Amino acid sequence: MTVELIAPEAVSWSEIKTFQRCPKQHEYKYVERLVPIKKSRPLFLGSWVHAALQTHYTDGDWRIGSQVFTDEWNKLFDEERLALRTRGRQVSKPLPDIVKQIMESYIWYHRDDNWKVVAVEQEFMVPTPLKIDGKVQYLKGIIDLVIEDQDANWWVIDHKTAGTIPEPTAFHAMDPQLMLYPWAAEKAWGWNIAGVIYNYVKSKPPSIPQINKDGSLSKRKVVTDYPTLYRFLKREGYEPRDFAHLLRPLSKRSPFLRQYRYPREKQVTREILLDALSVTKHIREDKRRSRTITRDCATMCSYHELCRSELSGLDTTILRKSMFTLKEASTVGDRFDGEPDDFDEPED
Ligand code: SF4
Repeated sequence: MTVELIAPEAVSWSEIKTFQRCPKQHEYKYVERLVPIKKSRPLFLGSWVHAALQTHYTDGDWRIGSQVFTDEWNKLFDEERLALRTRGRQVSKPLPDIVKQIMESYIWYHRDDNWKVVAVEQEFMVPTPLKIDGKVQYLKGIIDLVIEDQDANWWVIDHKTAGTIPEPTAFHAMDPQLMLYPWAAEKAWGWNIAGVIYNYVKSKPPSIPQINKDGSLSKRKVVTDYPTLYRFLKREGYEPRDFAHLLRPLSKRSPFLRQYRYPREKQVTREILLDALSVTKHIREDKRRSRTITRDCATMCSYHELCRSELSGLDTTILRKSMFTLKEASTVGDRFDGEPDDFDEPED
């Protein structure tokens, strides 16, 4: 019997997406494995909410997952915390308060979901039909959540923390690559998955209304949700029933949460798999990692200073040491090592 001691060649969706965005960024992140030391607010906040959702579904308590990040937050210097609270010219409330508000609202709106949890943070590594130099290429990843709904259908759930939730008809709302996850789940464990549910959570928390100087409630429109508005009214001594016209619509639907269901389709799976294999081939075979320079480089790429300096032929030894650490190689999917593509938090 032969034992395979060499780790199989595997790519994750995060890696494929990075390569599609910019091959040079892929080189910094996956070949050189450079990890930015400075925390990015969208990525940090998105990871935090994700961890809270994870233990909400495993242990029934979001605080367990959140605590890891709260501890990290508490260890930061004041200026680091301030940097993480800053969005453009605005300073938000502390991140622990934002996560608490987001999660309390999430739980309130999802109290009647009737989801039976099948698996949480399920790692997979499955062979694809692609071989390069005789080696089978694997696809790896982590499925956030698999649930059984009230009709006994199983769904892959992908949590998406975003500054702006796309409309359901927007092409990018479905993040088509994830349509491969049902295929992967079937290959890995024989599960029959009905499709993917994109579980959007807005990273900007609901606002509270202003109170006028005379003590009355400001008529200025705020974007809020039911639990936030209800609690605010009670705290300020108002009678919630007097605000039923505001509370009623908010009790049915939160502007901060959306769930989009996309049933599995053979044609989509096939197309996406072919795309993935084509990108994998480029990742393995392209010798030169070219730059894809766009106006998003400065705001969305953690490597832009390094990239620019190298483009100009400067010595980047000090810059590399001061801005990055090296990441250990991992076998399965890297969860939060990416650029903040899912966690984008543009100014409103
Ligand atoms: S700055 Fe732009 S071109 Fe350079 S690595 Fe980042 S995304 Fe690519």
